[in-house]
Amino acid sequence: MGCVNLWFLLFPMDESQARKLIVEIGKLMYEHSYVVSSDGNVSIRLDEDTVVATPTMTCKGRMTEDCLALADMEGKPLSEQRASSELAMHLLIYKMRPEIKAVCHAHPPHGTAFAVAGLAIDKPILSEVILTLGCVPLTDYGTPSTNELTGAMKPFVEHHNALLMANHGAVAYGEDLWQAFDRLETLEHTAKIAILAKALGGAIDLPDEAIEKLINIREKAGYLKANARCQACGYLHDAGIACDLDVSYPSANGAGERRISFTREELIELLSQAAKLG
Ligand SMILES: [Zn+2]
Repeated sequence: MGCVNLWFLLFPMDESQARKLIVEIGKLMYEHSYVVSSDGNVSIRLDEDTVVATPTMTCKGRMTEDCLALADMEGKPLSEQRASSELAMHLLIYKMRPEIKAVCHAHPPHGTAFAVAGLAIDKPILSEVILTLGCVPLTDYGTPSTNELTGAMKPFVEHHNALLMANHGAVAYGEDLWQAFDRLETLEHTAKIAILAKALGGAIDLPDEAIEKLINIREKAGYLKANARCQACGYLHDAGIACDLDVSYPSANGAGERRISFTREELIELLSQAAKLG
């Protein structure tokens, strides 16, 4: 018996509980303005072959338990109700990460502003975020509900717990639906703080030693596993604590390229030194 079977045997997910929880989280997503109109989708993996998901073209703030759809792991409908056309995104994550049991996709305004501006949420500016979420990479643009979208996400799913999709929105996932929602909320909150800090002159990065301490704490406490050192975070490389695996990520809109910035004074100093050397 594979580990996925064993997991579901030990921790079966009750379908009516799952439906209740999806309706509750849908309301929260709507009330927090993470979605408007019929945006976004939520699902829970019930067992090895079945997911319960939000239906297509329905406002997440006004769902009822009986409006949710059932589908198999290939996306085939198992109920009269039809799941969201973006279910493929959820199925990709479930297939690549057997421990993941719930997925939340939304368009939270601050996180989505990063995705629209071609930016990842990957700066070491908040200690709690390093402890609990890590970096949120930006994946290349793909037309919603097509293979383009899932293809762009694929390289990032294994080592991250939330992703931004260029010119689209965000997706977060977890071992239960609350964890998936919490991660979405942390993503949005971090993006909001980063934007506010920019208005105040810019956020100040934590130093390498502080980052290393946080990474050690999160692994000891079990918040994130050691494989999170393989995330697309420039600061893990700068601090010399990135994983040993040879992981390379495609960069969306060139956003993954390392950028170095100087103040005007530093640039003048650098140029004058170069002139002296010349
Ligand atoms: Zn969407």
